[in-house]
Formats: sequence, structure tokens, C-alpha cells
Amino acid sequence: MSAPILKERNKQVHEKGKAAFDLQCDRKSVAGSVSQRACVFCGSRVVLYPIADALHLVHGSIGCASYTWDIRGSVSSGPELHRLCFSTDLREKDVVYGGEKKLSAAVRELTAKHKPAAVFVYSTCIVGVIGDDVDSVCRKAEQELGIPVIPVHSAGFAGTKKDGYKAACTALNKIVGTDETGEISPLSINILGEFNLAGEAWIIKEYYRRMGIQVVSILTGDGRIPDIRKSHRASLNLVQCSGSLTTLAEHMEKEYGIPYKRVSYFGLEDVSKALYEVAGYFSDQDPLIMKRTADLVREEVETYLPALQECKRRLEGMKAAIYVGGAFKAFSLIRILRTLGVDVVLVGSQTGNRQDYEQLESMCDKGTVIVDDSNPMEMSHYIVEKDVDLFIGGVKERPMAFKLGVGFCDHNHERKTALAGFEGTLNFAREVCASALSPVWRFAPRRRNSL
Ligand code: SF4
Repeated sequence: MSAPILKERNKQVHEKGKAAFDLQCDRKSVAGSVSQRACVFCGSRVVLYPIADALHLVHGSIGCASYTWDIRGSVSSGPELHRLCFSTDLREKDVVYGGEKKLSAAVRELTAKHKPAAVFVYSTCIVGVIGDDVDSVCRKAEQELGIPVIPVHSAGFAGTKKDGYKAACTALNKIVGTDETGEISPLSINILGEFNLAGEAWIIKEYYRRMGIQVVSILTGDGRIPDIRKSHRASLNLVQCSGSLTTLAEHMEKEYGIPYKRVSYFGLEDVSKALYEVAGYFSDQDPLIMKRTADLVREEVETYLPALQECKRRLEGMKAAIYVGGAFKAFSLIRILRTLGVDVVLVGSQTGNRQDYEQLESMCDKGTVIVDDSNPMEMSHYIVEKDVDLFIGGVKERPMAFKLGVGFCDHNHERKTALAGFEGTLNFAREVCASALSPVWRFAPRRRNSL
């Protein structure tokens, strides 16, 4: 059976080896395609959500707020204000007469009650339509309340999820560079695009502590406004989720001269590489940092490798599909799955760019299908056609996998198990084993002829 690809999406699907590589990406989703992408507002909300001492106020209809309430598994070591979701709950009357008064009153009332370190005000679709002057309301509130009140221009219809990432970076940029007090080590970093899902930022931070490096700020996992304010004084930026925070890293390079590196903390290979790269960067200033890093990596690999080899023995020969938000994570997943003896036969992302997909193509085996901004119909087809055993995706992909009778591992922001770092690699391998090899599949046979 030929793949059910909409004509307008033909160029966003590529099977390696079938034709010259010319995948189209960075496009708006095709109407009617049932894209797995979220809207602009959701893009900005997921990036800023983990800032735990800020108040997040959604200016719009109540549905936008409930859609993104407590949207990530980002944990906090202190305040948990981020887990509450506030909305101006715009109604018909507000749409006719404007919602500025309501917004102004909400900012003041909520600030008095919760004493946040800052307020983020998210514009949603309806605000983009009625044209409330959110900037002016925020500016007046900021002057009166003495804390940053930051508009996030994220009307849902005004672009793709990636535009939401940019809106979040623009908002963060208003806080960065506003505190010059306190000592910062010359061996210091910011970690960008790390959201502390299930405590992953704490695992990574501990590696850097052992290496002798100060982490000034994590954007935005377990995030704090005072740390973000002084983040412009760190020596190096490390960008993990490149889709979301690269805009801010580029800006900080231009404005404050802080270089940035793209890193990944998923898989033994990539975590080690990230730590060695950072050690290499600071080795002129600290000649012993490379030795400390090598000791750390050796110790961690020796601890986790035997159990990973046992997982490999059980998984060898299986086939996997990967569909994630940003393509950079897919690179790491392909490498981890290879070390576990699993072949990747389908891979794609919601927001990858041309450069990402070229790298993906170079990493894949012949016959692997690469998709950009895919939909359930396409992915279900290829899962059946390629006889996939395991699907790695997010919450929206989970039902697809289970309905087709294949194992599933959540590698998106709802998960509650840490998958980053050396220990996270073993958690991932164990989760993959538990799902792909579960006895439940004896009672839920694969729907090989269901499409
Ligand atoms: S901003 Fe628009 S697209 Fe996004 S959740 Fe709200 S109404 Fe839906």
C-alpha cells in the first residue's frame, strides 16, 4: 500500500536511498494534516514554564490556560509558583470592549497575593485578534509594582511553535543582563534548553560541580529570575534543546560576547562528549580540569555500562521509530539505540531545520524514513510498513503506538523519569526494555493490516 501522504507534504517525507535528499522543512503546517505540533503560545509557554519563582499569566480564553497548565514534568528545588496557571478568562464582552482593564487588574491582584519575582503575560490568539495593548499594560504594571512584568507575544495563529520559542527568548532577553552584583567564577557556564524534567538539570549540574565549574543559570529548568538576571556574566553558554534557546544564545553572544556550544546529555557517548568539550574550553585556565573530567566519565561509564550491555542483549535486532520536537535530540537517540543494538527505521521532528535534517540523513541507514512535521496517518503507516517494535515520542504519539501494539517510551516533557546523564541512559534503556518486551503485547497483537 502506498503511503497516505498529502500532496502538499510530499517533499516533507524522504526515504533514504530512494531519491536525492531534498527534504522541505521550516514550513507552516498544512491545513487538515493534523500536525503533532503545538501553537505559538504553547511554544513560548513550554520554554518559560519551568521558571519557578515567576507568575505565568495567560491573557486569553480559559482553554489556552487549561491546555498548558502544568505542562512539563519540570521540578523545582524551591518555589512552585510555576505549577499554578492563571488566566484572564476573556469572554464575549472583553472581546467587544477589550481585555486591557481585566489584564491590568489581574497582574496587580496576583502579584499582591503571590509575590512573584517576575510576571510573564502571554498573549493568545484572541488577544492577537482584538489587539489589546499588552506592552503598555505590562510597562505600567512594572513601574508600579517594581518587578519585571514581561509581555510574551505569542498569539497562537501567528506562525509555528518555533515562533513561540523565539517569543520566549525575546522575553528572557529582557531579564538577562540586569544584575551586576556578586562574584562569578571565570570557569562558569549557563545551561540553555534544559528543563529539569524529573530532576535532569540537577544530575547535569552535579557533573559540572565535580569538574569545578560554576553553573550561573539554567534556562529554564528549576529556573530563578535572580540567576537569569546575572547569566550574562558566565563565560560559556551550553545549548541543549537547540530549537528552543538558540535565539537567546545567539543574542547573548552578540550582546555580551559569550560563545555557545550545542551539546546533548542523552546517551553515554554524547554526555561524555559534552563534558569533555566544556573541559577543553576551560583547560587553559585550569590545567587539571581535563583529568577531573576523565575520572568522572570513567567512573560513571564503569558504573552503568554492564547493565546497559544486559539491555542490549535483550533488545538486539529490534526496530524503532523516533518522533521528537527538536531534531537535535533525535541525533542522540539514534546513537543510544545503536549502542543498544536497535535499528532506527523512522525518524522525524516537529521543528527541525535544513541543517538538522541533513545531519539526520547522514546518520541514518538506507531505507530509513525521515519526516518533518508529520501526522498520525503517515507515522502509523510507516510503523506498520517498517514493522516497528518500539516508538519513542511524546504524549501525543503514545496512543498511536499502543493502538498499533508496539512498545513506547516517552522522551518528551511530560515524563517523570530522568533520561539525561549517565544514569538517565540506563533509565532509558530499562524503560525501552520494559515496554518493548512487555508480555502485554501477547494480548494486544500488532495491527499489521489495520491501515
Ligand atoms: S493560543 Fe490559539 S491556538 Fe493556542 S491554545 Fe490558545 S486558542 Fe488554541
